Amino acid sequence: MQEQALPRYRAQQLIHWIYQRYVTSIDDITEFSKDLRKKLSEKAYISNLGLVRHLHSSDGSAKFLFSLEDSRTIESVLIPDENRLTLCISSQVGCAMGCRFCMTGAGGFIRNLKAYEIVDQIIAVNRILQPRKVTNLVLMGMGEPFTNFDEVVEALWRIVLFIGISKRKITVSTAGVVPKISLFSQKAPEVNLAVSLNAATDEARSDLMPVNKRYPLASLIASCKKFPLQPTRKITFEYVMIRDKNDSQEDARKLVKLLKGLRCKVNLIPFNPFHGTELKRPSDQRILSFQKILLEGHVRALVRESKGLDIQAACGQLRASSDPLR
Ligand code: SAH
Ligand code: SF4
Repeated sequence: MQEQALPRYRAQQLIHWIYQRYVTSIDDITEFSKDLRKKLSEKAYISNLGLVRHLHSSDGSAKFLFSLEDSRTIESVLIPDENRLTLCISSQVGCAMGCRFCMTGAGGFIRNLKAYEIVDQIIAVNRILQPRKVTNLVLMGMGEPFTNFDEVVEALWRIVLFIGISKRKITVSTAGVVPKISLFSQKAPEVNLAVSLNAATDEARSDLMPVNKRYPLASLIASCKKFPLQPTRKITFEYVMIRDKNDSQEDARKLVKLLKGLRCKVNLIPFNPFHGTELKRPSDQRILSFQKILLEGHVRALVRESKGLDIQAACGQLRASSDPLR
């Protein structure tokens, strides 16, 4: 708009039509004169994701398979509970981090998403949900947000300022790209931070997550301790529970020690097996005794079952089977 020497309120109108009225063509912005629409259409277009599939799970969650302009596909998962509508979105096509327990990691990395492709996932879902809207957002879909740092930060600003989701209701999850953690607190809106910890020793963590060889636990925990938190906020640590890898009572005790002094909570996520993996989910009893040790050590810990198991929407299973370009 600035380039076109148009006044500021024109930009505000444009933002309103894109982010609140979900138009997909400049031609539909009837608040603009025909001339203005034509002039803008020569310079720009409104991006939009193609909806390839919309699957409903018996537990109430839904999976959206979206196509991008280059025909790659990404997935977003909607998880309704009580009065919240939480959307789990992707930040990359695939992921380069190679975590052993994650199906996205197993499929390798294809490309980063642009900020508009990250944001479009919410717009597309809001359009389908009308008049309801996504209330909570998690960047826990495909990809490692902190290796697509600039686009993710830009997307978060648009989500907070233009879509209007409160920053307290947004959580970004990282596998632990340590140098980006403090940078993120400086550059992005003050959203919640989640860290995929998944082990309490370097040996176990490096075995599961190659990123740990570069940024070992001590550096990861130190950067979490420095992360600025509002008084009532906590860092979330995700801990995928895998049989005989990280699920012993000894592991639980080490985890309590590791997290000492951190304002945090732990989400214990029973591993979701997928085709071709030798990793297994621990027994319920083993998960519960692990949780008990955390609670006795004054670490808040919840067992979180993944949603959308029947539609391959569960953690780490995004983009399963349905993408011809995988
Ligand atoms: N790359 C970021 C965000 C996406 S992964 C990150 O790793 O944090 C979102 C979460 O799904 C991570 O906490 C990861 O540990 C978990 N996850 C991946 N594969 C899983 C599986 N097979 N079962 C259970 N959780 C899994
Ligand atoms: Fe990537 Fe996260 Fe999966 Fe690891 S767990 S491979 S970082 S998406």
